[in-house]
Amino acid sequence: MRIVILPNASNVAQFAADALAAQLSIKAESVLGLATGSTPVALYNELIARYQRAELSFKEVMSFNLDEYIGIKTSHNQSYRSFMNQHLFEHINIDINNTYVPEAYLPSKAALLDSALAYEAKIAAAGGIDLQILGIGINGHIGFNEPSSSLVSRTRVKTLSQSTVAANKRFFKEGEFQPYLALTMGIGTILDSRQILLLATGENKANAVKAMIEGPLSAMVPASALQQHGNTCIIIDEAAASQLTLKEYYQWSERQQSLLAKTGLGHMHED
Ligand code: PGA
Repeated sequence: MRIVILPNASNVAQFAADALAAQLSIKAESVLGLATGSTPVALYNELIARYQRAELSFKEVMSFNLDEYIGIKTSHNQSYRSFMNQHLFEHINIDINNTYVPEAYLPSKAALLDSALAYEAKIAAAGGIDLQILGIGINGHIGFNEPSSSLVSRTRVKTLSQSTVAANKRFFKEGEFQPYLALTMGIGTILDSRQILLLATGENKANAVKAMIEGPLSAMVPASALQQHGNTCIIIDEAAASQLTLKEYYQWSERQQSLLAKTGLGHMHED
């Protein structure tokens, strides 16, 4: 895992936008995996700004979102489809027909299972995900893969944990129905992505970040599965990094890697 610790949330968004821009410059028709939640909003704002300055184009991009609530209409303002439209898709030149969010407003469990299989097939037909953006829950979830999720799971129906329901309560009006089921990419689906960027900011993520990076690989911390992914970059601010035992090592490592990239081995002492 590459661990990048930056001073603040705005730096995290800039760094992630640079990585995404680099991916698009290599492959304009990239397949992106996208996430909802508060954390990626700053990244999406940065992507919109770069698009407006004509620095980025999403014309040929295809996207797959991690998850969608079950039990509210796609048109509901808290559906993840609405979130993506509002926070990103309406402001860039992506073809909306090339943006996919799991279809979860369906009448039966069988229909949801079919939808999950179809989502996996659609990702495979697109050639797989080139770059996946992730956030992390305070309980260590990625997507809606809650603690105890199988580390090889595929897209399926998950029940949200009480801590997730509580964390997302802020988005729903008093007395309004709040979903407690979701259709989510599995951990195995996420691990199939060729590159992963996980963003986390704020002190309330510090324990989950520590468990993900330094804890044992465990279904109790779904994000720890990223320890088994060969091309993952964890981009965090100082607050989210505050519990890391090896924080100084990660910072030292970043400095060494950047020197190596700039000067080759020229900065090393020669005997
Ligand atoms: P947040 O959500 O970005 O709103 O904190 C992250 C997540 O639950 O994955």
